[in-house]
Amino acid sequence: MIKKVVLPKGRVDFTQFLSGMPARDYVFQNEPYDEQIKEAAGFIRDADAIIIGAGAGLSTAAGLNYGGKRFTDNFAEFIEKYGSEYMRDMYSSGFYPFPTEEAKWGYWSKHAYVNRIEPEAFPLYEALYKLVKDKPHFVLTTNVDHQFWKAGFADEDIFATQGDYGEIQCEKGCHDKVYDAIDIFKQMNQARKDCLIPSYMVPKCPVCGGSMAMHLRSDRYFVEEEHWHEAARHYAAFLKEHKNDNVVLLELGVGFNTPIIIRFPFEKMMREHENWVMVRMNLEEAVVPESLGKRAVGINEDIAKSIEDIAKSINDGKRVDE
Ligand SMILES: [Zn+2]
Repeated sequence: MIKKVVLPKGRVDFTQFLSGMPARDYVFQNEPYDEQIKEAAGFIRDADAIIIGAGAGLSTAAGLNYGGKRFTDNFAEFIEKYGSEYMRDMYSSGFYPFPTEEAKWGYWSKHAYVNRIEPEAFPLYEALYKLVKDKPHFVLTTNVDHQFWKAGFADEDIFATQGDYGEIQCEKGCHDKVYDAIDIFKQMNQARKDCLIPSYMVPKCPVCGGSMAMHLRSDRYFVEEEHWHEAARHYAAFLKEHKNDNVVLLELGVGFNTPIIIRFPFEKMMREHENWVMVRMNLEEAVVPESLGKRAVGINEDIAKSIEDIAKSINDGKRVDE
């Protein structure tokens, strides 16, 4: 059992965390929201380069909700077939132990259709692109919904570490290749009956003949194929190139589910680069290490609103300069 610790107001204790080395001095900053927006706008305006770190909270803020009406409308027949105690939202339902390949792909083709194939770029992602497009920028993301590409970000500027809903791989990762599954998901979506796809549509690994799986990091068989490594190299090169520049780390919707991919590395880079600054936006968890002082802004608000206000603040600044 986790022991409950009583802390001074405004302080969050993540020291009991299992994931390694979280900051022990996390605080919710108490500057007024408008001041924080001005500071964040100033950071971005003066930046030589911007690194976006984006987690699930960004897509939620953009409108890609995994629960509620969006779930019950799209997955009504699945909820009826498998039971609402298992099919609670698009996160928990992905863990359902589908009894057959026809059932598994019946579900995942729908999930991919609703979250990856059907949606166009959300306005928040487009606003984000507009905010950074004129400066060197790079995106590190755990999101698998392909929104950064849809919003206009170039492939060589994105490292999506956890996979993509539009791709499949060998379930046992027997070879380092992933396969574009957009067309077959569209076909499955048409052919699905009673939550099942026809047997002839079940994909098979072209190498070992075994089952296929979504290209999502969920176990040790996740395939890091050539494009994944290429993206990792682009990210490393970007960090090296801008080592001595004024860099803004723009962290969006990164919580504490997998902080070892974006949150903790960003904090580490802040400690290693004196001239880097950070803007952390998160609806509930925008705590920042107090030791970073004025170099970090933690905005605990709706990200869509914050991005809009920052863009406005930058534009207002430009008009004053002219
Ligand atoms: Zn295989």
